Amino acid sequence: MNIILMGPPGAGKGTQAEFIKNEYPIPHISTGDMFREAVQNGTTMGLEAKKYMDAGQLVPDQVTIGIVEDRLGMPDCQPGFLLDGFPRTTVQAVALDEVMQRLGKKLDLALDISVPEDVLMDRMVGRVFCGSCKTVYNTVFNPPAVAGVCDRCGGELVQRSDDKAETVKKRIQVYMEQTQPLLHYYTQQGNLVTLDGQRDPKEVFKDVRALLEQLG
Ligand code: ADP
Ligand code: AMP
Repeated sequence: MNIILMGPPGAGKGTQAEFIKNEYPIPHISTGDMFREAVQNGTTMGLEAKKYMDAGQLVPDQVTIGIVEDRLGMPDCQPGFLLDGFPRTTVQAVALDEVMQRLGKKLDLALDISVPEDVLMDRMVGRVFCGSCKTVYNTVFNPPAVAGVCDRCGGELVQRSDDKAETVKKRIQVYMEQTQPLLHYYTQQGNLVTLDGQRDPKEVFKDVRALLEQLG
């Protein structure tokens, strides 16, 4: 099954991806995670991407499309993939269609998690994640048992450098301008399903699971 997770930053794409990964053997491909890893490793691409990420802007299409194309060609994507945070522009969506065609793959579902704009800000400024195992928490909506400590592995919880209020505002604006129009693109393809993301994450996942079961 080949799936795209869509929705604004903070909608809960990464949170749902964790649930999906636990039940379905397909790789979770998050371009944001890939860029953050490149930044951490200090690669040339990472240093270039960091400039855009810290400004709340999109990394140029050429760079982003290149890394996704390489990733989708890897053997573990044979049974399917779960793309998270890609595509984010029309140019990326068209490139993805071309890559899939070349690889003999077909998109099964573009899953849009819908959350009102005013809620996104609170979710992102409260987001923390484990520096070791990357589990995501929220200091208000999904706090760890002990503040600052990962429930799963005991690692230290940190904030993303682009989750500051000013950067978050910019990222939401960029989403509205450049990414939201893609919902129309996938509606026209007949692949879009929108879910209400303003519910308990487990409730959202019940709907996600029901949709994935239909794909077989
Ligand atoms: P995205 O990957 O779409 O940017 P995340 O999955 O990282 O979003 O979630 C953003 C923040 O909101 C995190 O702090 C997460 O714990 C929290 N969150 C995710 N889903 C929900 C939900 N359904 N209700 C409340 N908070 C949520
Ligand atoms: P995310 O983890 O999805 O919130 O992404 C964090 C940041 O990485 C974004 O604000 C962008 O700067 C960059 N990024 C992630 N995915 C893309 C993409 N598909 N196109 C351009 N930039 C991206």
